[in-house]
Amino acid sequence: MFITALNCIDGRLQRVVLDFIKDIYNIEFVDMITAPGIDGFFLKDKVLRDYIKESIFISLEKHNSKNILVFGHEDCAGNPVKNQEHIENIKRVVDYIKENWLKDEEEIEVKGFFLRKENDYKWIVEEVI
Ligand SMILES: [Zn+2]
Repeated sequence: MFITALNCIDGRLQRVVLDFIKDIYNIEFVDMITAPGIDGFFLKDKVLRDYIKESIFISLEKHNSKNILVFGHEDCAGNPVKNQEHIENIKRVVDYIKENWLKDEEEIEVKGFFLRKENDYKWIVEEVI
């Protein structure tokens, strides 16, 4: 079983996201699509968006993933905005994927999460959409 995740390149968040997915979804294999500040760049950069789209569809079609999870995080070097703007960005990315890339009849779950920092080793995962 595979799941699809959009995550920042940030090394502090890789294991955090893997552990969250294993705990909550009980899915071991994560197709991790990364870019710096992916919640921000997704909305700004068409080339990156096309790359992400291609990656997502490989994960959905070849690995039969049924979930796309979008993560943004506090203290992000690639998208250095306030927490509330991250949350807005994450919601917009989720809506964009649902409205533009998925057909209504496809049963793919798309959800967004914000990673709030307690320290470099401890992050709180909040569902935002
Ligand atoms: Zn980041």
